[in-house]
Amino acid sequence: MDAAEIIIIGSGMGGASLAAALAPSGRRILVLEKGDYLRPSPADRDAAAIFGRGHFRPREVWYDGKGRPFNPGNYYNVGGNSKFYGAVLLRYRAEDFAPIRHLEGTTPGWPMSYAALEPFYQRAEEMYRVRGQIGEDPSEPPHSGRYPFSPVPDEPAIADLRRRLEGVGLHPASLPLGVDIEEWLKGGQTTWDAFPGTTGGKMDAESIGIAGALAHPNVTLRTGAEVRRLHAGADGRIAGVELAGGETLSAPTVVLAAGAVQTAVLLLRSGLANSSGQVGRNFMNHNTSAVLAIHPFRKNPSVYQKTLMVNDFYLSGGPGDAPLGNIQLLGKITGPILAANSPLPGFLAGFVARRTVDLYAMSEDLPDPESRIMLQGDRIVMDWRQKNWAAHLAFVDKLKRLLRRAGYPIVLSRPFDSRTPSHQCGTARMGTDAATSVVDPFGRSHDHANLFLCDASVLPTSAAVNPALTVAALALRTADHILATEFAGGG
Ligand SMILES: Cc1cc2nc3c(=O)[nH]c(=O)nc-3n(C[C@H](O)[C@H](O)[C@H](O)COP(=O)(O)OP(=O)(O)OC[C@H]3O[C@@H](n4cnc5c(N)ncnc54)[C@H](O)[C@@H]3O)c2cc1C
Repeated sequence: MDAAEIIIIGSGMGGASLAAALAPSGRRILVLEKGDYLRPSPADRDAAAIFGRGHFRPREVWYDGKGRPFNPGNYYNVGGNSKFYGAVLLRYRAEDFAPIRHLEGTTPGWPMSYAALEPFYQRAEEMYRVRGQIGEDPSEPPHSGRYPFSPVPDEPAIADLRRRLEGVGLHPASLPLGVDIEEWLKGGQTTWDAFPGTTGGKMDAESIGIAGALAHPNVTLRTGAEVRRLHAGADGRIAGVELAGGETLSAPTVVLAAGAVQTAVLLLRSGLANSSGQVGRNFMNHNTSAVLAIHPFRKNPSVYQKTLMVNDFYLSGGPGDAPLGNIQLLGKITGPILAANSPLPGFLAGFVARRTVDLYAMSEDLPDPESRIMLQGDRIVMDWRQKNWAAHLAFVDKLKRLLRRAGYPIVLSRPFDSRTPSHQCGTARMGTDAATSVVDPFGRSHDHANLFLCDASVLPTSAAVNPALTVAALALRTADHILATEFAGGG
């Protein structure tokens, strides 16, 4: 390929969706990805390997705010974290784009309305072939079109759960999913949540985004290409993209899409795009707990389980009527998964796991400038100041009471490990004011005219929904903007 016109750093949800959207323009696009393709392996459907032995976790150490080392569950491969994701492709609610008063503070709102992003949500759902159903969920924002496919069916124990939740006055709804269930199950009888998508059936940044982009001859993907630093010229434009091996590449337009943590790290290491001092700040994840509902005499033989959500307490229902969050099912927890995450020995974990229905309670984390990704020398520090935890505890209590009323006499809960930044976002937030934000509402750096950010780093709020569809929708919007502004003169 001749010299690239656009370099995209990172092939995850943001970078791959952007590449796919730019590809039909014929522009010469080079995607630089630090990792390699995930190839099918026996570990892919082996819960003990994934959850017990951490087979796929990177050999990487970060430090928390107290200087304690930890191994983050952040994945580097073609498709990024989406290769392992639960494929929940859920829109932020319309209300999330304006300030919302929470128990521990008020969110800042977005520099755009839901209506402005809606067409891109629709396009992203079509691109990622989302299975869903409009009209079941009272918090559902307006859709300009239908979901391209009908929902992944509930398994019988989940259909029973749905009836029980309705019986206590809730409005369970089908979880929008990027999963072709027949295709997925051909690769093994497991859920897809946290299992890598290597044999088909999961719609992720590699199987959809990168595959779609590479169908065009003007797109090249370079794997094993870790970017270490960006360089700016005297005119402030990004003039060089330096790889770990020492090689430096350049292109008229550079897009950074390395994920919220690594995008901040790259900018901090480069000393760029940070006239606001906001790079690395406002780091958010979600406040999350696993909630296991058990009836000792009722087994749950579900294989995948993850087909249902409840948003009745998304905007209200907490102390002082504060928002609480989203409830969705986890992928089915099995004996090896429970054994890896609890003190239970294997046989007991298996006995219990055959009787649990496994839910995920997710509450919004609020932006805080002191919640930061920092670089100390070359050490990555994730000083996450988890906000709004009291609301999360109230949420879990409420859910447990409701599940007991719905016919599960034993309900156990446990917060997810706060050092696994699955829903990381917010480290280079978008805004209209260059003094308080890193990029404009299209993802363009306030400081460097040819630099765009296109990943979860730009999200101003975490909401209480999974981030990937919003990352993809923003990427499609950024792609349109790049084509309209960077190449407006043709050529
Ligand atoms: C187990 C798990 C389950 C999840 N489930 C869901 C879900 O159901 N729904 C949902 O919406 N979200 C889910 N998520 C989160 C979702 O995967 C992320 O929100 C999404 O992938 C973020 O996209 P991104 O583009 O910001 O970053 P990523 O997808 O992480 O992509 C970043 C890419 O950049 C590459 N990279 C990093 N540094 C460099 C460098 N220096 N040079 C070159 N390349 C680099 C990485 O290797 C990676 O490919 C889940 C995540 C995990 C881990």
